[in-house]
Amino acid sequence: MTVLVTGGAGYIGSHTVHALVEAGEHVVVIDNLSTGFSAFLPESAPLFIGDAGDENLVGGVIRQHDVESIIHFAGSVVVPDSMRDPLGYYRNNTMTTRSLLNAAVKAGVNRFIFSSTAAVYGNPEQVPVPEHAPTRPLSPYGTSKLMAEIMLHDVASAYGMSHVVLRYFNVAGADPLARIGLATVGATHLLKIAVEAATGQRAKIDVFGTDYPTRDGSCIRDFIHVSDLAQAHRAALSYLRDGGDSVTLNCGYGRGYSVLETIEAVRRVSGRNFAVQYAPRRPGDIMMMVADTSRIRATLDWTPQYDDLETIARHALAWEEKLLQERRGEGRQAASA
Ligand code: UDP
Repeated sequence: MTVLVTGGAGYIGSHTVHALVEAGEHVVVIDNLSTGFSAFLPESAPLFIGDAGDENLVGGVIRQHDVESIIHFAGSVVVPDSMRDPLGYYRNNTMTTRSLLNAAVKAGVNRFIFSSTAAVYGNPEQVPVPEHAPTRPLSPYGTSKLMAEIMLHDVASAYGMSHVVLRYFNVAGADPLARIGLATVGATHLLKIAVEAATGQRAKIDVFGTDYPTRDGSCIRDFIHVSDLAQAHRAALSYLRDGGDSVTLNCGYGRGYSVLETIEAVRRVSGRNFAVQYAPRRPGDIMMMVADTSRIRATLDWTPQYDDLETIARHALAWEEKLLQERRGEGRQAASA
């Protein structure tokens, strides 16, 4: 009984691999290391370097390791990049999922957990957003994920594949033990930028839009700690193994924090009063995105452990400080070589 995790060396994937291994699962990983890091994997999880859409590779790994379930993270995740390179996103997200599903069907794997996103909702009419809300993505990223969801649904009906689609809201934070975290260079996510400012790697942080009709004028987001999200994947796997019906679930806490509140939380936990500059709205931003979490709470055996913005900020900061120390150490070594 082995679980194949595609994209398992990435940010959310690696936290999930650790959660699965800690729960006693046998895990194998396929990752092309385009944004992931092999050092993020526990020793007991073998890594196959390659694409999740390489059907020969995937078929071989499934047979060799007796894979019974797939958790599919591999893909591209940056909304503005998807605007510039839509075909790249349809290749990496939609076509890769198609090939992976084809390999899974051929090999008889009938449990599948898919990483999707709140971006499939576009601008929600109703907040908190329930899973049955209309899906009108505003970016090729959101559309590429929605297309994969639809494909998975059709494949599941045709071949009896049970599946869980997890729609992530704003994923943030890092492993509480600071073993792993977000290490992608040039990340654009709010909390990452804020902890970079708090650690002196940026002179300031821009707040994109302070004239929204919200409580303080900035956008509102539902942040979920990456370790809680990892546990949601573990719980989804148990749910499917127990015979649960295929389902789509929002992954958030159901509570919104504004951009300004989030920055304040990072200032508080770091004790550093970095500069904050008010800037124009960022094109394509959604004003308010908060999950209706009633379905995930009713469906999965899942109790969040880190549902607290300061805890998320503290873990993100601890990881950023560790990354910075490592980079400085590498810099010193290079200078003395
Ligand atoms: N944001 C900001 N300054 C930054 C990065 C992000 O004001 O340097 C805002 C962004 O405009 C949005 C919110 O923070 O309103 C969350 O953005 P992020 O890119 O983290 O995630 P998104 O919700 O867009 O996927």
